[in-house]
Amino acid sequence: MTDLATVREVGLRDGLQLVKRTLPTDIKIEWCQTQAACGFREMEVTSFVPPKVIPQFADAESVLKAAQSISNMRAAVLVPNLKWGLQALDHGAKKITFVLSVSEAHNMANVRRTTDTSIAEFSELIAERNCRGLQDSVMMSVALATTFGCSLQGEVAEPRVYNVAEQVLMAGAQELNMADTVGYGNPIQVKRIFTEILQLADKVQVAAHFHDTRGMGLANAVAALEAGVREFDASLGGLGGCPFAKGASGNIATEDCVYLLESLGFATGINILAMLEVRKNLKDWLPDEPLEGKLLKAGLAATFE
Ligand code: ZN
Repeated sequence: MTDLATVREVGLRDGLQLVKRTLPTDIKIEWCQTQAACGFREMEVTSFVPPKVIPQFADAESVLKAAQSISNMRAAVLVPNLKWGLQALDHGAKKITFVLSVSEAHNMANVRRTTDTSIAEFSELIAERNCRGLQDSVMMSVALATTFGCSLQGEVAEPRVYNVAEQVLMAGAQELNMADTVGYGNPIQVKRIFTEILQLADKVQVAAHFHDTRGMGLANAVAALEAGVREFDASLGGLGGCPFAKGASGNIATEDCVYLLESLGFATGINILAMLEVRKNLKDWLPDEPLEGKLLKAGLAATFE
């Protein structure tokens, strides 16, 4: 039996958060629909955040609603704190990813509270979800930003990573999404940390979120794969970045990540040629943005099956 691996598109959230031009809502919805039609089963489609801070996501409600009407596709949203997590619940989100940073300095800069406060707010959000009777219909994930290092603080101690992971698991997280927010990870470290995290998580899903800031993205994905991870975030055209990362380069490119996994014998369920057609549109939708990704330029290898 072929092993399965999942690529979750995060371009509409991570990819767009630093893009200055606000992408019209109807284009976001078209992006979502056309990419879902290629076989993508999960996409992070927006973020519930103060529109003053990130005007790009002022249309979160409309984008979420449209994305949720697509069959066989789970629409996830990212939230930075309890207040906006409650907004996401109010608007019927079915998967909420609560972001917090393992690095205290990054958490303060990104969401203006200590990591402990963020964990406490995540706990409260879970309690509120349960109070509303939504525990079986709303999945709660935690994105652990700066797991592999921090541009503000430097090294992030591994015991601290495991400690934060244990706390959010205790709080009821249904997914740990380990993020190399600023592109500091290397494959040996990635394999070691994921091996430990998969043990800690037991039956809870573990995902990997890599940025390709220093060209390590796909190598890190292979290392995570070897540790046993089967869920990968990626963004079309490698769009995206973190405001606190020098170079602010994006996520690993979805098209290259899918090609990698398929080349290694994993079934992603994605129609690669259809995906490349959507990728071509990205250039028209965001003409000012530098896009990454090798596969569109090179095409499939003749030996690829
Ligand atoms: Zn990211």
